[in-house]
Amino acid sequence: MLKVARFGFYMFGINTYVVYDPEEKEAAIIDPGMSRKQEFDALEKFIEREGLKVTHLINTHLHIDHAIADNWVKAKYGVPVEAHADDAMLGERIKQQAQMFGVQAEDVAVEIDRPLKEGDIIKIGSGELKVVHVPGHSPGSICLYDEADSFVIVGDALFQGSIGRTDLPGGNHRQLVDAIKNKLLTLPKETMVLSGHGDATTIGREWESNPYLV
Ligand SMILES: [Zn+2]
Ligand SMILES: [Zn+2]
Repeated sequence: MLKVARFGFYMFGINTYVVYDPEEKEAAIIDPGMSRKQEFDALEKFIEREGLKVTHLINTHLHIDHAIADNWVKAKYGVPVEAHADDAMLGERIKQQAQMFGVQAEDVAVEIDRPLKEGDIIKIGSGELKVVHVPGHSPGSICLYDEADSFVIVGDALFQGSIGRTDLPGGNHRQLVDAIKNKLLTLPKETMVLSGHGDATTIGREWESNPYLV
């Protein structure tokens, strides 16, 4: 059984998730958005306190808020950056993204060490996450589905009552709506949806009431 810890960090109100097996003590850090000392400390303390070994660093996509601390996690825990290859260009342009959003960032280009694709299985202890490619918010946006524990981490593809913006480079509204309908809304209705920003929801709730998906 996998558990999920959510950290809400300052930069664009990003949700960083730690998915971990509390028995085998392996963990994946997903979308590390730490940009302030107390945020790095909070994540580090959690990993220490739970006695976890970080075995994966995964990005749902390579927008700056989701990847700003990638290189820190990679260096600290010795794990490769895992993300979809279609977002490689965004990773190379973290600095330009910082300028675009008016945030302070050093030249922190993110290189994908281990490209992920549709259908890949990521093992975390005795549990696993399945990679679901949901492009449209960015070309390489992926969701991470844990069927056994009934949750899906969706990055910026889907939010409670909303969907991801598609006006950024590589965005495509039609593609996003189609991918959400075909690949996310087809999951069991009780599946918990953990988004890159804001509160959790469920597939059933969004299927019933999300105004962007009618
Ligand atoms: Zn994004
Ligand atoms: Zn975001």
